[in-house]
Amino acid sequence: MEDLRAGRASGPGGAPTGKAMDTRTLFEWSAAYHMPNFSRAPICLVRGDGLRVWDTEGREYLDFGAGLAVTALGHCHPRVTGAIREASATLLHVSNLYHNVPQIHLAKLLCEHSFAEQAYFSNSGAEANETALKLARKYARERFATDRYEIIATHDSFHGRTLATVTATGQPKYHHGFEPLVPGFKHVPYNDLRAMERAVDNRTAAILVEPIQGEGGVHVPDDDYLPGLRKLCDASGALLILDEIQTGLGRTGRLWAHQHAGIEPDIMTVAKALANGLPIGATLARRDVASVLTPGTHGSTFGGNPFVTAVAIACVTTLLDEKIPERAARVGRHLAEGLRRIAAARPVVRAVRGRGLLLGAELSRPAAPIVDACREQGLLILSAGDKVVRLAPPLVVDERLCDQALAILDGALAKAA
Ligand SMILES: *Cc1c(COP(=O)(O)O)cnc(C)c1O
Repeated sequence: MEDLRAGRASGPGGAPTGKAMDTRTLFEWSAAYHMPNFSRAPICLVRGDGLRVWDTEGREYLDFGAGLAVTALGHCHPRVTGAIREASATLLHVSNLYHNVPQIHLAKLLCEHSFAEQAYFSNSGAEANETALKLARKYARERFATDRYEIIATHDSFHGRTLATVTATGQPKYHHGFEPLVPGFKHVPYNDLRAMERAVDNRTAAILVEPIQGEGGVHVPDDDYLPGLRKLCDASGALLILDEIQTGLGRTGRLWAHQHAGIEPDIMTVAKALANGLPIGATLARRDVASVLTPGTHGSTFGGNPFVTAVAIACVTTLLDEKIPERAARVGRHLAEGLRRIAAARPVVRAVRGRGLLLGAELSRPAAPIVDACREQGLLILSAGDKVVRLAPPLVVDERLCDQALAILDGALAKAA
């Protein structure tokens, strides 16, 4: 028996021996007992606090990946930990056969702080998008009573790994082996209004885009792109679905990234940071759109359970109370300036992109060895696409920690050049 949380061996009767389990044995078991779909870095993490995490060997890391832009409030934030304690001792799960109090409050909170009027809760980003796609199809069918079901998404997008959301994802590498994909999807280049204009017709149910492409390489569109899509949708009757799973909840320096563009979507999906690491997704929409999901048309066993929604309320209210989006804008400017200084000095960096605390540096070489070199020096960062290193730290990061991270990244780039 072993203490799974800390990777500790336990003695007879399951009593902890206090001795850390051999990390090599953990990796052997990981290879033996996990499906091989992930290519994980060779570290095993056991504990976190704020911007820091520690592995089974006691090594400390500065976390500038936030578990893929999830832990916006950092690790073990006292308000999150407090909410988890309280919610776990109150009510975990009842199903959606009944009302539960936190789910109602979270729906109201998200609607009061967005364009949306109604919410649906699921357990992941992919599920939030899956819901958005089903909602758009049903809305188009009922409103136009025709075979209007097509979704137009963009090249290099990322929308999830279920069959429909991976079909929407405009990256063929994620499609290979899973064909036939779901019918009714088209892809056009991102940030190309003319291409979208040509693609939209009377079969278009919805346009689905990220306000900034995250996984695809931190691509920020031109200022007129989202307003242009809004106009196209208004003219054609198609719905505008914004996937704010990575960009939402303050990451780009506003609560929602589309606020930078001064437009509103018809449907928005949210997940990653919503409960700071507990699994939850939300699909938000105007009431007239949402109204087609009549009783029985869609659902989820776990979705919106009182435990995860109570924790999400704590996360969202903390974000709002502590003005975390404004902080992300301010600290993000500092981090971006540092990245630009590195870019000016090191030709291996071709461009710096992003907004708030979602930043990318495009390299002239593969990003993976740089990510590895940073990790070996105690800094966790992400890649996005093959040649972009992505920084997406917890939004509670400060300037001093940014400078520490920049120094490590600069050192890794210096060695690679
Ligand atoms: C991460 C992500 C998803 C998928 O979320 P999961 O929780 O992994 O299913 C979808 N869209 C975007 C933009 C994402 O960043």
